[in-house]
Amino acid sequence: MKIRVLKGVRDILPTEITQWNFLHKQAGKVFSRYGYKQIIVPIIEESGLFTRSIGQQTDIVEKEMYTFLDKGNRSIALRPEATASIVRAYLEHNYSHTGLTKFFYSGPMFRGEKPQAGRNRQFYQIGVEAIGSYNPFLDAETLNLAIEYLKEIGIKNFNVLINTVGSSEDKQNFSRKLKAFLLPEKNLLCENCQSRYERNVLRILDCKSKSCKKMLKNAPKIIDCLSQESLKDFAVFQNALELLKVDYILDPYLVRGLDYYTKTVFEITHDKLGAQNTILAGGRYDNLIEQLGGPTTGAIGFACGVERLLLAQKAESFTANIASKQSIFAIGLGAGSYSRIFKIAHTLRKNSISVHLDFENKSIKAQMRQANKLNCSHVLILGDDELKDDNIIIKYMDKGTQELIKISALLEVIKRELTP
Ligand code: ATP
Ligand code: MG
Repeated sequence: MKIRVLKGVRDILPTEITQWNFLHKQAGKVFSRYGYKQIIVPIIEESGLFTRSIGQQTDIVEKEMYTFLDKGNRSIALRPEATASIVRAYLEHNYSHTGLTKFFYSGPMFRGEKPQAGRNRQFYQIGVEAIGSYNPFLDAETLNLAIEYLKEIGIKNFNVLINTVGSSEDKQNFSRKLKAFLLPEKNLLCENCQSRYERNVLRILDCKSKSCKKMLKNAPKIIDCLSQESLKDFAVFQNALELLKVDYILDPYLVRGLDYYTKTVFEITHDKLGAQNTILAGGRYDNLIEQLGGPTTGAIGFACGVERLLLAQKAESFTANIASKQSIFAIGLGAGSYSRIFKIAHTLRKNSISVHLDFENKSIKAQMRQANKLNCSHVLILGDDELKDDNIIIKYMDKGTQELIKISALLEVIKRELTP
């Protein structure tokens, strides 16, 4: 039997790469405007990093994390997300002495969940982390950055949802209240939520099942359980969003799946993506740095799913308007001419010109067909007759014309032709 790609994992083919690279390039451009610097963290980490940060009672740690024992019997995980790794790196390299530190990253993440449209087992995220401040103005800046990035990559039909989950004490108080509210009808919750009730009751707010949604209609709201400080921070955040003219929807039931979130949380959803419509999500994680052995430090970040960004772009019929690089097809007919064109191709490539060459001794007709298929802008034809007189034929594919020129003039002619 043929070996096929794993379930929930996919190849990203050359046809998608222009768009793919565009997404990444624009991310770097927009993020650096806000002072973010790129960081690359490993794909494997000690499993403990994630169990300690994301939380034991979360879907990721309970069901989705890919872990294995290495030869030294250490438990290693394929990273399910990057925030924990970045905080680890932040502490390991003593960034905590340098004030506000802003990182951006991109790369593959791994979660063993049920594959479906927009949900893969290996998927890619682009994200930012700003570590070193509790100021809610930073929350507004971060969310605004997310929005600016989406606009920059041609995505427009999205909704910005915000909420606060409060400090960790607020979260605990609220969890107690929510449990009390749900208790009388606990057995009407979906199976998943019945176990969430014990393990991580906040996650019930995130349940998509109709019956759970119905039960939650009159559920207590986090906002009514907040301390004065959390309330004030949330108000400052919203005021700052208004200063930046950010359109948002306050969703009092918005929560995030990982334990480390505190206070500000947000999600950006896309109108046309169906069930997996969250293209970007983030929030504050003011306890995480301390939890991983660092000083108490405020921090906030977000991550977007690259596959979902691509789907959103597609839904909006956006294609990156990037001129494809012009290229040359070089044909040598006969042994002597082939050796010569082989050398000419080398010279052109050294001058940053993209050149295709046949290696199968194909007929001129077959090679012309190939040049058309590759959308080459020019074809060079060198036969023994031309070679004898140090000439070469250059075909201008756009115009459908051709010209005999001196081989010695070729480089200059092509350079002139390819200058935009
Ligand atoms: P979801 O509710 O969609 O599972 P999440 O809360 O697990 O999202 P985060 O961990 O916050 O998501 O990840 C941020 C973003 O990464 C998501 O908004 C989504 O765009 C993307 N993402 C998360 N899991 C997957 C996946 N399995 N496949 C593709 N993209 C994903
Ligand atoms: Mg998830």
